[in-house]
Amino acid sequence: MPDLAGRELVDWHTHIWRPEQLGPVWGPRLDAVCAPARPSAMADFAEHEAAMREAGVQRFGLVGLTIDQIGMDVPNDYVAEYLSTNRGRAIGIASVDPRRPGAADEVRRAVRELGLHGLKLSPPYQGYHPHAPEAWEVYEAAAELGIFLMFHQGGVFIPECTLEYGQPVLLDKVARSFPQTPLVVAHMGKPWCAETVELMVKNPNVYADISALAHRPWQLYNGLLAALEYRVTDRLLFGSDFPVFDPADCVQRIRALADLDAPIPIPIEVIDDILYHRPLETLVP
Ligand SMILES: [Zn+2]
Repeated sequence: MPDLAGRELVDWHTHIWRPEQLGPVWGPRLDAVCAPARPSAMADFAEHEAAMREAGVQRFGLVGLTIDQIGMDVPNDYVAEYLSTNRGRAIGIASVDPRRPGAADEVRRAVRELGLHGLKLSPPYQGYHPHAPEAWEVYEAAAELGIFLMFHQGGVFIPECTLEYGQPVLLDKVARSFPQTPLVVAHMGKPWCAETVELMVKNPNVYADISALAHRPWQLYNGLLAALEYRVTDRLLFGSDFPVFDPADCVQRIRALADLDAPIPIPIEVIDDILYHRPLETLVP
């Protein structure tokens, strides 16, 4: 049984943004999906700070996101600006659009000059096949720099984006080509959580965060059950996807899964291990 004495709540998947950085498509569409909440207007530095404090989040990952085809750009410099006031308790996860010329150089700048620690990509949102040559250059740059890759690989809510590039299994080639690079599948690849688990079983460098799943208890229950059966829960990371979801509420809902009247229970010890024993050092040496 894991030792819960040295517990630390780490939220691996949080965003900061200003509404105008989201562009003409993402912000309005996100707000429509989340109505009556308006997450497009809820993620400035002060709001992020307050949400982390209220949830008792001790450390967190700050995720950037750049999607050229819908005019969305939360710049790496913006992530770095907030990171600079949270040194020691946060990591910055840069983002580039692999289809933009110079993307690999921007990864190098984000890590070497801005001090960011990982890289977020999304084939379905950014509209590229995960095996595309321009993406490969970006993966190679990440491997040289020794940083981890976080993929939004799974469902998307923007009609213009490309769902067929979102299957988790497409990352298998990336995982086996870069065995020293940790890959994090955000949202456990929802709705294809079981497919993500298969990717994790086969590739020891593949992790997954469980953000954006707390409000879909049946999907999360089945994802956790698959991870338990295949013994990969030690590579699951807690995340909220703030401001879309509130971390305090997520913690409560995820812990409540242990009380679900289900034929095969998810032990609370496994849930607490995921919540409280994934220090940032897991992926950032
Ligand atoms: Zn996110």
